[in-house]
Amino acid sequence: CGIVGYVGPQNALDVVLEGLRRLEYRGYDSAGVAVLADGELSTAKKAGKVANLEKELAERALPAATIGLGHTRWATHGGPTDRNAHPHTSADGRVVVVHNGIIENFAALRAEIEATGVEFSSETDTEVVAHLMAAVYPTLPAGPGRLAEAMRVVSRRLEGAFTLVVSHADEPDTLVASRRNSPLVAGVGDGEYFLGSDVAAFIGHTRDALELGQDQVVEIHRERGVTVTDFAGNHVEPVPYRVDWEA
Ligand code: GLU
Repeated sequence: CGIVGYVGPQNALDVVLEGLRRLEYRGYDSAGVAVLADGELSTAKKAGKVANLEKELAERALPAATIGLGHTRWATHGGPTDRNAHPHTSADGRVVVVHNGIIENFAALRAEIEATGVEFSSETDTEVVAHLMAAVYPTLPAGPGRLAEAMRVVSRRLEGAFTLVVSHADEPDTLVASRRNSPLVAGVGDGEYFLGSDVAAFIGHTRDALELGQDQVVEIHRERGVTVTDFAGNHVEPVPYRVDWEA
């Protein structure tokens, strides 16, 4: 029910956990985080409150990282268990995804992916996105915008409502996100960038936000900043606004 993403010089886990705590008012049944450090993705996810996740993290620390994402879940497909909590990871461990919403055509996509020999590790609709991203990314030319292009290719195959944030182990400076019928905002700080299901996710760090429109993909990159396109890849100029309410 809430999403936060971070790219920048701060400790990503601290930023993401703070965002998740600020999103707790929305109600949820599970929480999870992923960080990318030294070319490896690490995740922690637990049914229950963010405090439960923090207890897990106290016992099993994640590496210090400058890229991270977090999720609070309101289960729609698959019960509220540790396994079904987000982030979800591709079979090769190179992609993680968090998702709010419902992917209506997940059953057909799951059957198609399973036919290629991939085994699923959750009952969620979301997990198809991790496997699709892992399959599409290697087929695209290397270079700037590759992860965003993979996100567009995958987004065009999805039906339903989604806010998605994806990290790839080969992309140490980039997070991408996609939205359809579900909210997504980007936050612009000083040399750091945020994604959120609402501005509460990053209000502790910046009040400069960009509103994303329907069927758009956004890339936040440590040097290039924020780039927005529609699902076809056409550039879109996002509308900046300033958050003026008190946090
Ligand atoms: N449909 C997804 C699930 O059940 C995401 C639910 C949400 O919006 O948190 O895992």
